[in-house]
Amino acid sequence: MEQNIQKAAEIIKKSKGVVVLTGAGISTESGIPDFRSPGTGLWEKMDPMEALSTEVLYNRPEKFYREGFEILRSMKDIAPNVTHEILGKMEEEGCVDLIVTQNIDNLHQKAGSKKVYEVHGHIRSGYCIQCSKEINMENLEEKVDKGEIPPRCESCGGVLRPNVVMFGDSLPACFDWAMDAVENGELLIVIGSSLEVGPVNYLAQICKKLMIINLGSTAYDRRADLIINEKASLALTKIYALLRK
Ligand code: NAD
Repeated sequence: MEQNIQKAAEIIKKSKGVVVLTGAGISTESGIPDFRSPGTGLWEKMDPMEALSTEVLYNRPEKFYREGFEILRSMKDIAPNVTHEILGKMEEEGCVDLIVTQNIDNLHQKAGSKKVYEVHGHIRSGYCIQCSKEINMENLEEKVDKGEIPPRCESCGGVLRPNVVMFGDSLPACFDWAMDAVENGELLIVIGSSLEVGPVNYLAQICKKLMIINLGSTAYDRRADLIINEKASLALTKIYALLRK
């Protein structure tokens, strides 16, 4: 592992246009379960592809607000961990140009990262599916806690939903910007993602150089130039120490 850490620091130092793609695995050390880790992943308890789907949200909103919504709100008061913090510093010091995250947990922003594309949305707010009026997460939660299920828009009566990309939704415009950044950049560093979820995993297909920092194997290991199978916090702490030398 030490040799690969050394290599990782060297590659980062000499690359221009460094994009970091993060997944649920970067937040497990903050206490948020990912989807696919054996034993602890959410998949062991429920099928997130169902609980967090547009099919359930639109056709069985009670189920969505009982299961999917509970997963989302459980992430609200979580603190970032050392990996998020190091990425914030790396951006500040010019070693990282952009973070593209599949996570909705807001932890990169909490850790100080400025340029973050949240390609699966976020849990800071929701909106009306009819008139698009925004509502903040606290007000949405309040309605649900009062038993207003599905919660409805105060302007037009339409059903409210969180600002999170569900299975069945299309991705926001920032995914196109992320593709441009990856195509124009020299390095993509994937941290804590199984790279099973499309279309985001396409970024690992189109990048010039691919570095993967992940505990388990990923769908793109064969395409990677460097793989570090280690806890993100441990790997990033060591890489960052070398970058600062
Ligand atoms: P995933 O669950 O498919 O994969 C997570 C990967 O992270 C696994 O391969 C695992 O081995 C690895 N991992 C776990 N802990 C790690 C650690 N400490 N250090 C390094 N690697 C670690 O997650 P995914 O690829 O992001 O896809 C799941 C989808 O679910 C994404 O779309 C994501 O938006 C969503 N999701 C988000 C959150 C969140 O916002 N925190 C949580 C769960 C799921």
